[in-house]
Amino acid sequence: MANVAIDGPAGAGKSTVARLLAHKLGYVYIDTGAMYRALTLKAIENNIDMTDDQAMTNLANNTVIELQPGDPQEVYLDNRRVTDKIRRPDVSQHVSLVAQHQGVREKLVALQQEIALLNKVVMDGRDIGTKVLPNAKYKFFLDADIAERAERRYRELSAGGYPVTREAIKDMLLSRDSQDTSRQFSPLLKAEDAILIDTTSLSAEEVADKMYAIVKGG
Ligand code: C5P
Repeated sequence: MANVAIDGPAGAGKSTVARLLAHKLGYVYIDTGAMYRALTLKAIENNIDMTDDQAMTNLANNTVIELQPGDPQEVYLDNRRVTDKIRRPDVSQHVSLVAQHQGVREKLVALQQEIALLNKVVMDGRDIGTKVLPNAKYKFFLDADIAERAERRYRELSAGGYPVTREAIKDMLLSRDSQDTSRQFSPLLKAEDAILIDTTSLSAEEVADKMYAIVKGG
């Protein structure tokens, strides 16, 4: 399978780099985090208890999430466009809780695997190399210093008009990292055969070029 799997913690640069790489390769970019975010948005809007395993599994099984490839990738929740809404800070704050439930993961992983069967993809997330596409030909794990990750998120969110502080973003990233790495089902983990890239002092273009050279060379 020529697919490319990219994992790593929040703010490591995955989505920007994955988008660039997909463009260079002519592959479809799939942001799996957007699916967990869309389900979180629905839970918030419907006042569902996000700690309730059964309620969240039912919600996942009764929700249609669609990704429409493009720049930007459009996200549809039950036929409603939610591309911008899913970036809201309250969604970011709760998404790791939603992503802990096994029933939620089973539903979304199956959807991700289906998309990867039909397209050549660059897919980013937390469990792509370990669980979603364990046979992907190319696997990368991106990481960066927490200060740099917080700075990147700060710039993105302030550009989007959200009133945020660097300190609050750093706390939120650390909290998400700790929930994502310590959860029971498919925790954030570098696949043994994934190539580790520290993006702290690299631009997104430099990282994408590095990855492109690896994919084209192998
Ligand atoms: O990639 P992004 O930061 O938008 O992901 C939001 C959250 O969705 C992550 O913090 C994680 O809890 C969850 N996620 C996941 N598995 C994936 C992608 C995202 O658990 N493959």
